[in-house]
Amino acid sequence: MNAPDKSRSGAELASIEHWIGGRIVPGQSGRRTDVFNPASGQVSGRVAMANAAEVAQAVASAQAAFPAWADTPPIRRARVMFKFLELLNKEKDNLARTITAEHGKVFTDAQGEVTRGIDIVEFACGIPQLLKGDYTDQVSTGIDNWTMRQPLGVVAGITPFNFPVMVPMWMYPVAIAAGNCFVLKPSPLDPSASIRMAELLKEAGLPDGVFNVVQGDKDAVDALLEHPDVKALSFVGSTAIAQKIYETGAKHGKRVQALGGAKNHMVVMPDADMDQAVDALIGSAFGSAGERCMAISLGVLVGDAADKIMPMLEKRTQELKIKNGVELDAEMGPIVSAAAQQRITGYIGQGETEGAKLVVDGRKFQGAMAGAGCDGGFWVGGTLFDNVKPDMKIYKEEIFGPVLGCVRVKDLAEATALINSHEYGNGVSCFTRDGNVAREFSRRVQVGMVGINVPIPVPMAWHGFGGWKKSLFGDMHAYGEEGVRFYTKQKSIMQRWPESTPKGAEFVMPTAQ
Ligand code: NAD
Repeated sequence: MNAPDKSRSGAELASIEHWIGGRIVPGQSGRRTDVFNPASGQVSGRVAMANAAEVAQAVASAQAAFPAWADTPPIRRARVMFKFLELLNKEKDNLARTITAEHGKVFTDAQGEVTRGIDIVEFACGIPQLLKGDYTDQVSTGIDNWTMRQPLGVVAGITPFNFPVMVPMWMYPVAIAAGNCFVLKPSPLDPSASIRMAELLKEAGLPDGVFNVVQGDKDAVDALLEHPDVKALSFVGSTAIAQKIYETGAKHGKRVQALGGAKNHMVVMPDADMDQAVDALIGSAFGSAGERCMAISLGVLVGDAADKIMPMLEKRTQELKIKNGVELDAEMGPIVSAAAQQRITGYIGQGETEGAKLVVDGRKFQGAMAGAGCDGGFWVGGTLFDNVKPDMKIYKEEIFGPVLGCVRVKDLAEATALINSHEYGNGVSCFTRDGNVAREFSRRVQVGMVGINVPIPVPMAWHGFGGWKKSLFGDMHAYGEEGVRFYTKQKSIMQRWPESTPKGAEFVMPTAQ
């Protein structure tokens, strides 16, 4: 493993632009926003913010590239993906460094993010097989029928800050391999990785215009939502915006997949291996500072599991190695922005006011404790609450920070009912040694992704990712075969030849003869 480049934290000011038609296009809107290194709190760059004209330019470039790309045989599109894969594997650590520098997550976790993105590129390399249609010989005498899947055209992806490499890769490798042209609108909090991915795609031989990046915020998103040439939109972000994107996109006649927020529970049954359960809760609540849509933010402690586990959780929360993410032994880094830091500390105060028992208070953690140069950064320590109740805001709302709340319940039925009544349904986990508990829980829980003794059950590339309830609007999950379906439309072709065509007009509904 290469050593992380520590000099990036707070050095020169980068200028982050758009990528249109296979090259960097400097922003013209006159609007820019600061990009920060969250560990130091220093501005590291300025990112362009696209206006509607710049979005239109990107969509036009994608639209112009579409006919030739859609006509390119899938095996040749797959070869570009194979080359991209090779380049990504070489660039993995550099991409991880870029993530750490702008997002703040620890370098080893950023490497994991890039690897999970690469998984999807590997999946997309199999596009010839994935696009293979179904064929029926002789549906009627002398008639054959087959289905094929064709690309939609220009499709767009709007992505959140928390996975600046992996979440775009949930979308564009599958979309592009299927023959679409793509416009990515990344989060302005950590935009640099998007441009590096664009450069690598070009180096891999992707024709200009097939992949474009517009940097920006709501203005760019609104322009994509309203643009008639954008045929489908994938969104990942908070629920309020996901719901709006889904409704507005559908109103404009687009296919939309909008993945929203989460509040993930982990049930600990009294028979669970308590050491394993504590490892799982600590890692999944505080990894990436809790800024993961699959983070566990609620422990549901059944029966006497609570008394066994709470002292262990308290000790481990206090012992977290919270450091600048470039340090290889760091377990948790800073929060992405000052605004997020304020939101999280606000929730901690709210939890206290609501009457939950604050066992470890992350507000006491100061940047200086994270190492040299971190005193101006955006830091919150690991926070642990006990006696959280379902009517509290810290139970109901997504905090998206390093805050673990624990709820005590009497049995599995109460745990399952509690989870099922939550408005989110992204991920859930149950720790137990009992096969029947595992089976019953998996079948009855109203959540899209379930882990049994697995705290963060993010499905692999070929299984597809998606939550239920307010965690996903739309019916297709991201990537996997559902991703291929989302980015293609089915066509059915029925064919016969003159030799098997009867004479005379037929006025009755055709049936198999
Ligand atoms: P966000 O909703 O603030 O931003 C997501 C994207 O929408 C960004 O590109 C942003 O620039 C854009 N955006 C922001 N405000 C907008 C507006 N008013 N109109 C249109 N677009 C707007 O989310 P975030 O803070 O970047 O990411 C964290 C959120 O994403 C959390 O809620 C997390 O649960 C969610 N998330 C969900 C999944 C999932 O798979 N369900 C995965 C990752 C993140």
